[in-house]
Amino acid sequence: MERPIMKDPIFLARKSAPAAPEDLRVAEDLLETLAAHRDGCVGMAANMIGVAKRIIVFDNEGKYMTMFNPEIIRYAEPYEAEEGCLSLPGTRKTKRYRTIKVQYQNERFQTRLQTFSGWTAQIIQHEIDHCNGILI
Ligand SMILES: [Zn+2]
Repeated sequence: MERPIMKDPIFLARKSAPAAPEDLRVAEDLLETLAAHRDGCVGMAANMIGVAKRIIVFDNEGKYMTMFNPEIIRYAEPYEAEEGCLSLPGTRKTKRYRTIKVQYQNERFQTRLQTFSGWTAQIIQHEIDHCNGILI
């Protein structure tokens, strides 16, 4: 079910709690909300639909991917990016890394490790920031 976009800066500035298997429904809603905003939005974190759990969904080279409890465990090659956010007006400059290694859990709550680079890595960094209460 598509849910409304959370824009309250105080709610969005809170750190999200770990996600658990009972949050699978939240992940489904998050995917449906992302799909509804596919024009101009490439990723979302669960707090953007008002659920402060560590879940992100994003466009991984044309295919949606869901991560539970994602954590960046390695960063390489910093650069300055300019980003927008569905929860904020306009765009802002921010520091990102070209390549990241992410530890996360999949829909079966199996732990996975994966390296991402370029645009996908940038989206993941933006969404994990949301889980940590950080806005661009
Ligand atoms: Zn955002």
